[in-house]
Amino acid sequence: MTALDRLLAEAHPDGTFGGSRPAPQPARSTCAWCGHSRALTDAGRFWPHRKGDDPCPGSGRRPRTHPATAARHRAALLADLRTRKAA
Ligand SMILES: [Zn+2]
Repeated sequence: MTALDRLLAEAHPDGTFGGSRPAPQPARSTCAWCGHSRALTDAGRFWPHRKGDDPCPGSGRRPRTHPATAARHRAALLADLRTRKAA
């Protein structure tokens, strides 16, 4: 038994540690229209939500991706492909 195991056994005498896990959280993204972190549907669009008292125009839209972020992502994917070809 490691020191960590002893600490965990002490903190969770009923053995619950590692038992229950939090439910998976829905994907979220920052809405460019209202600036808040909002949940996304399975289709990757914002659920209907409000901006102040009015419906937010970002409802039902896809999150905007900054062009620099998209370029970094593409570069990383290409680098990964090159590495795989060489291997
Ligand atoms: Zn919004």
